[in-house]
Amino acid sequence: MGHDYRPEREYDVRPVPGEADLPLANAMADLREEVLPALGVDDVTVFFADLDEDLGRYVSGTSSRPVIGIDHDNLSSASRIQGLEYRRQLAATLAHEAAHAYRETLGLDDLDEDAAGTFARRWVLEGIVDVSVLVPGDDGPSALRQEG
Ligand SMILES: [Zn+2]
Repeated sequence: MGHDYRPEREYDVRPVPGEADLPLANAMADLREEVLPALGVDDVTVFFADLDEDLGRYVSGTSSRPVIGIDHDNLSSASRIQGLEYRRQLAATLAHEAAHAYRETLGLDDLDEDAAGTFARRWVLEGIVDVSVLVPGDDGPSALRQEG
């Protein structure tokens, strides 16, 4: 089961910026080792493009092999502002977007920013891969959703 989504049909896909090469390789290695197996995802496809205000974007409907866009300029700014290494900011963004894909496979609201954000932060800041934050508990999905 796959999909034939190609980001260049929708985005002005750019080559990976030179300074992002190594951080991307490192972030992907960590993601593949620690996060993707927990999400039951074989691998992700990453492309670089201008994503308006977003750091990253999961392309809805590609969960069989999630396609994730990264905006290098926005990510660089965010990493400076938050005092987080580019590599870690990138890793967090990839985990965040992979979390959206995971929720989509469960038939949940794949745009729940709280769940995806919590999942990514816990991994990057605490080293914990906690899939349970992506799955509604007894309180139901509304407990994880922030209005507004
Ligand atoms: Zn998100």
